Amino acid sequence: MSATTTQNQLIDRFGRTVSYVRLSVTDRCDLRCVYCMPEKMKFVPRTQLLTLEEMESVGRAFIKLGVDKIRITGGEPLVRQNIMQLFRNLGATDGLRDLTLTTNATQLVKYARPLKDAGVTRINVSLDTLRPDRFRDMTRVGDLKKTLDGIDAAIACDFEQIKINTVVLRNHNHDEILDLVNFCIERGIDVSFIEEMPLGQNDHHDRAVAYYSSDQILEDLQQHFELMPSTMTTAGPTRYYRLGGHDNTRVGFISPHSHNFCDSCNRVRVTAEGRLLLCLGQEHSMDLRHVMRSHPGEPEALEQALIDSMQIKPKGHDFNLNSQEILLRHMNMTGG
Ligand code: SAM
Ligand code: SF4
Repeated sequence: MSATTTQNQLIDRFGRTVSYVRLSVTDRCDLRCVYCMPEKMKFVPRTQLLTLEEMESVGRAFIKLGVDKIRITGGEPLVRQNIMQLFRNLGATDGLRDLTLTTNATQLVKYARPLKDAGVTRINVSLDTLRPDRFRDMTRVGDLKKTLDGIDAAIACDFEQIKINTVVLRNHNHDEILDLVNFCIERGIDVSFIEEMPLGQNDHHDRAVAYYSSDQILEDLQQHFELMPSTMTTAGPTRYYRLGGHDNTRVGFISPHSHNFCDSCNRVRVTAEGRLLLCLGQEHSMDLRHVMRSHPGEPEALEQALIDSMQIKPKGHDFNLNSQEILLRHMNMTGG
């Protein structure tokens, strides 16, 4: 099998077309969520990060090769200095249909309106609990009110979609699933429940013990709601359900353990250092920073590297609750 480009499309060896890129703009964050990074996280030196101009070049090269959805993520994207410049420039690029953001919302009171004006279509906000003391425990440093105010600020700006992302951990927040769904119903926004992924060494909790499956969540919710599978897709791994009687809220599941989504994988990630990761759960990668810095002013070199990378996109991940395959790469470095 060989990878190809057809009509400016990136197609891998397994016939999957890459149309979605998750671009991490920093590995830094103002929170320290227990499933994402250790309390004393060592961040990448700033000098090793791509500049915002280089990130824009990466985004443009992908768009030229048929990518029509870019999600800006991190770390916390809104703590990167001058980040609005990247949103504005990508938002103004022809060919990009969907410019989206994943954020912890701590800065959304300030940034929601400028993000909307820059062309951001949809925002995912991480929120694992509605209890202030628990929020502090799960984020180690966070203030729930700041995140809730940020969510309200985003709702006021009328984005196409606002979705809450909740990582569910047994004995930490699994008893709040219903409260979180009701929170979203009251606001007319969506929610996705995520199974924890084994990225980075975790000394906080035993991941196998904290595992709470999507099927279990579905069962919990079926005690209270009628849930109907939906055909809705946002080109990501989420499986959506409609909620009987609540047309403005969908419940999604991201289930790397129980419902592997590799066969329909359409995405790649770029870390803040410019490492193109071909799979969330494997180390196959390409150093785009090196390509750009050794071929300055040559966008064709970058485009060729992206085409070549299709040769090494793996068939899939092999997450296993009882082994720690990716010890060094935490989610904030991966671009979750
Ligand atoms: N700081 C932003 C935020 O929290 O939304 C963006 C980056 S964060 C790494 C992106 C998403 O990854 C969040 O929804 C977070 O809950 C999720 N995440 C982090 N670590 C995870 C893990 N080990 N397993 C599953 N999801 C994880
Ligand atoms: Fe920060 Fe997001 Fe990771 Fe939480 S999940 S520590 S908010 S990057």
